[in-house]
Amino acid sequence: MSLNLIKSENYINGHWLRADNGQTFQVMNPFDNSLIAEVPACGAAEAERAVSAAHGALKPWQCLTAKERANYLLKWAELIDENKEQLAELMTKEQGKPLAEARGEIDFANSFVRWYAEEAKRAYGDVIPANQPNQHILVTKQAVGVVAMITPWNFPAAMITRKVAPALAAGCTTVIKPAEDTPLTALALMALAEQAGLPAGVMNVVTGNPAQIGRVFTEDHRVRKVSFTGSTSVGKQLMQQSATTVKKVSLELGGHAPFIIFSDADLEKSVDGAIASKFRNTGQTCVCANRIYVHDDIYEQFIELFKKKVAALKVGNGLEKGVVQGPLINKAAIEKVERHVQDALKRGARLIFGGQRVADDKLLFEPTILADVDHSMLVSYEETFGPVAPVIRFRSEEEVIDAANDTPYGLAGYFYSRDIGRVWRVANALEYGVVTVNGGNFATEVAPFGGIKESGIGREGSYYGLDEFLETKYICMFE
Ligand code: NAP
Repeated sequence: MSLNLIKSENYINGHWLRADNGQTFQVMNPFDNSLIAEVPACGAAEAERAVSAAHGALKPWQCLTAKERANYLLKWAELIDENKEQLAELMTKEQGKPLAEARGEIDFANSFVRWYAEEAKRAYGDVIPANQPNQHILVTKQAVGVVAMITPWNFPAAMITRKVAPALAAGCTTVIKPAEDTPLTALALMALAEQAGLPAGVMNVVTGNPAQIGRVFTEDHRVRKVSFTGSTSVGKQLMQQSATTVKKVSLELGGHAPFIIFSDADLEKSVDGAIASKFRNTGQTCVCANRIYVHDDIYEQFIELFKKKVAALKVGNGLEKGVVQGPLINKAAIEKVERHVQDALKRGARLIFGGQRVADDKLLFEPTILADVDHSMLVSYEETFGPVAPVIRFRSEEEVIDAANDTPYGLAGYFYSRDIGRVWRVANALEYGVVTVNGGNFATEVAPFGGIKESGIGREGSYYGLDEFLETKYICMFE
């Protein structure tokens, strides 16, 4: 490895810095609770300095051509590729996901960098036929300005590049606060961006006190947009705070995905899809299947096959070959999973598989299947964010659509059916930002991702994702 990618400092205005008061916090490996590194515990002062840096760098960055900005992004992408193995290993150590998944996330993260390097060149405007003879109407797109970003721990690389790449491509400058549990991947990506020659101030990373940093990001008038991925409760708070300066906001928030299997579905494929959707990242994704609805006619058959395949999932250290289920991120996360399982069992759910910690002193939880779940149970309406698959029986299309939509969330929904009429009906009826038919994984940089209802505002990925970082300007010219 030519570069040391484990950084213990923040990056502000082209310099690696400690917190003003020298304080740090520890980043631990969730598998064995070993210390990986310490990073600065920054607050409002450092966040303000990062905003000043981004603000200072804005004009020159905006004035570059899209092609010039694209070249920086392409160089960054090249370095991410070259350092993929180190990045993936670092991610597994700080986040816990199996190495194969971490490698997949680095590729996914980098796909946004490459996509937006190209897409920046296509931030087209319009010429609109005027309604007066001497008038000309033009519509141009301009960078929003300084964008502040706050990201979660479950996808420590992709949730950053999915925001930063379109922002930089559009001509915005950025300040980023990564999650406390996974700041190292963010800082490593920053180090590679520095290596790619990104001018000082264009991208800044600050770690530390979320409330203090978040307050600066939302209330400083120089920040024109806040882009957040995380829980719905924090998203609501940031939206409220952003109102003080009428900022644009993009919010990628929580979800509670229904995963519906109709009686005409391909059973084997639907089981594989449910496993891919439910157990990726040990169930810690915003688009995880949270409620698996299975038609009465195939209910027991589904459970039998599901159990057989779930029982084969190996749990352990993500760095170990063959492990597909790593640890949960922290103590609060595993306690929530336990609480959800206990609540469901108390209310009459049937335990089909798992249900317990693998060891008392570890954050490993058995992949778990609960059958006969009903809507009184916590698992049916709160995000579990863990490897628990609740299975619910249904009898009619109408009943299951009503149940699927009966949630404040609207991020991702899935269903399996081979009836083309039903496919159209159900795809239209599900109140979700992303609907996946006959599959368990839809993620790609070329399509728009995002939620409706309390799952968020705005889209990431694709050309829709670039638009989130552009303002539309109407230029009216008279001869
Ligand atoms: P979280 O608690 O909301 O944290 C997300 C980020 O917000 C972290 O960087 C956190 O910092 C920061 N934060 C917390 N309190 C804050 C405050 N008062 N002001 C400003 N920032 C604050 O969510 P999480 O537990 O990390 O992530 C899980 C949630 O994210 C789930 O609900 C999941 O569904 C959602 N998610 C959504 C998407 C999507 O694309 N829709 C993708 C991934 C995850 P600290 O870490 O320092 O506390």
